[in-house]
Amino acid sequence: MSQYYKDGLQFSCSGCGYCCREEPGFVFLSNNDLLNLQTYFSLEKKELIDTYCRIVNMGNFKMLSLKESRNNDCIFLGENICQVYKARPLQCRSYPFWSTLMDNEDSWLDESKNCPGIGHGEFYSAKKIDRQLYLRRKESPIQF
Ligand code: SF4
Ligand code: SF4
Repeated sequence: MSQYYKDGLQFSCSGCGYCCREEPGFVFLSNNDLLNLQTYFSLEKKELIDTYCRIVNMGNFKMLSLKESRNNDCIFLGENICQVYKARPLQCRSYPFWSTLMDNEDSWLDESKNCPGIGHGEFYSAKKIDRQLYLRRKESPIQF
């Protein structure tokens, strides 16, 4: 498959906080994400889930996502800064190199209208981008 990003892409987060706030959305969690957050907060799994997570009904199965505040901000967003940055879930860590945005250039360009970091700053080679895609495939979100 030809990769539109074969010569690499640029991205540097400007810290605007847009992707963590305002619009309703999901931050789906893997088992490893839960473990990282458990360690970060020193909480047992059940307590962590009860406090910070919600169950999302996907029809035939369910998934676990972070809760949102009433204004749709992620529960971990404070003053445009992620309060669990070092333990943020893989979905957040791998943004914007998601398969949905790497599949075609139009999606990437569309996304750049929302994220001012796309197309600027740090250079990511195709190899580095593929690594992000691989990590997402390897560490899938919990389904039950
Ligand atoms: S929208 Fe882009 S620049 Fe803004 S916080 Fe999210 S990743 Fe960073
Ligand atoms: S966990 Fe952090 S980086 Fe991820 S959506 Fe929430 S505030 Fe943003």
